[in-house]
Amino acid sequence: MAYDDENVFAKILRGEIPCAKVYEDDHAFAFNDINPQAPVHVLVIPKGPYTSMDDFAANAKDAEITGFFRAVGAVAKQLKLDKPGYRILANHGSDGMQEVPHFHVHIFGGKLLGPMLRRGD
Ligand code: AMP
Repeated sequence: MAYDDENVFAKILRGEIPCAKVYEDDHAFAFNDINPQAPVHVLVIPKGPYTSMDDFAANAKDAEITGFFRAVGAVAKQLKLDKPGYRILANHGSDGMQEVPHFHVHIFGGKLLGPMLRRGD
């Protein structure tokens, strides 16, 4: 799938639509999810144009991958989630129900999060 420059996270990166910014460095940008699913719900995105985890893992440069995942850890620490704990999640494709076609990692925290998936599905 070709990268769509008009996706909502590309617009956030270009400053065309607002967001509640949490963190930024050379490789990554983080902001609060507009529809939080936990007391803390932050999205971390790479600055490069990658559609999903599949695209990012295959095509990003080593420095982008390293920088991005270091940023995910730094954001969780900045949010003081490292001690109580947190969950990260990345959706890819239709079974993963990915909505926004710019690779992103969700960070959830701020409460006991419960089981990873609903039982019985
Ligand atoms: P996913 O299903 O993994 O693609 O998740 C996309 C996430 O982006 C959802 O949790 C949405 O609530 C979130 N989202 C969509 N638009 C915005 C926006 N303008 N600002 C912040 N979060 C957004």
